[in-house]
Amino acid sequence: MFVYGPIPSRRLGLSLGIDPVYYTCTFDCIYCQLGRTRYLVSSPKEIPKEVLEKFPTDEDIYKEVKKIVSENPNIDYLTFAGSGEPTLSPYLKESIERLREFNIPICVITNSSLMNYKSVIEALKNADLVSATLTSTNQEMFEKIHRTKIKLKDVIEGLIKFRREADETILNIELMVLKGINDDDETIYKLKEIFDKINPNNIEINTPIRPPCEKYAKKVKYERLKEIREILGEKAFIIGEKSKKKYNESLNSNILERISSILKIRPCTVEDLSNALGLHISEVGKYLYALKNSKNLKCIEIDGKKYYFIDMQ
Ligand code: SF4
Repeated sequence: MFVYGPIPSRRLGLSLGIDPVYYTCTFDCIYCQLGRTRYLVSSPKEIPKEVLEKFPTDEDIYKEVKKIVSENPNIDYLTFAGSGEPTLSPYLKESIERLREFNIPICVITNSSLMNYKSVIEALKNADLVSATLTSTNQEMFEKIHRTKIKLKDVIEGLIKFRREADETILNIELMVLKGINDDDETIYKLKEIFDKINPNNIEINTPIRPPCEKYAKKVKYERLKEIREILGEKAFIIGEKSKKKYNESLNSNILERISSILKIRPCTVEDLSNALGLHISEVGKYLYALKNSKNLKCIEIDGKKYYFIDMQ
């Protein structure tokens, strides 16, 4: 079973999950809700042949998604995530390209470990939203949290490169905050410096809410998450906090019209629109995606921020 849902997601609304890698991951995170990683690898080359044979191909994914989408017209996102690291799939690029046919925004949730691979950047460029994890400021902390042989330096370089090369894709960095491990002020200020270099659209602050793999991967209190959000600045928000509305609503034509009329008058960031309309930023992404298809939506970068506007010329 590599396609699951659709399920209501705190971040994405009604999301149809696609798991393209059959329990194979580059990390063995202490906070993983799936337990210890079944097939731990450091690169796509290390995936055993018999495991690779269990990965669904782009044809398998296309057929299954087509069937479910025809029965569920209100799906907000097609989301690559699940039992491992989606960018390990050799079929990811083709899968995303084929799923474009359904005209539903596509999200990839990645642990960022393979971001410095050219093939991964090329695959992820085709997604509308990439949510990429970054938790650590040094290799020791990185290995403690993710139990991996991947180098943090490569991850950060890959994210910077991706941001430069994929300027049409919304890049959110997910910061998983763990009590006593990466929640102190010094770490958060250092993370802020790294995030500033990457220049993502948003920073999603998360903490384990489901039982983690290791008991010592403890969640951080909401009050502390709020302080962390203050330090990280205006791009940061706490997952699950912003939108209390039900996600499983289809695209609302009034909202689409409101966003369209705002963007005809003045350029706005995703956050501006989110604040103005009381929408979750993932939902704003969904409306921008619709406008990209139907109107002359443009994007310019000023002082490191992306501003969207509708070109009336
Ligand atoms: S990257 Fe995700 S799937 Fe892999 S071990 Fe970490 S939490 Fe689990």
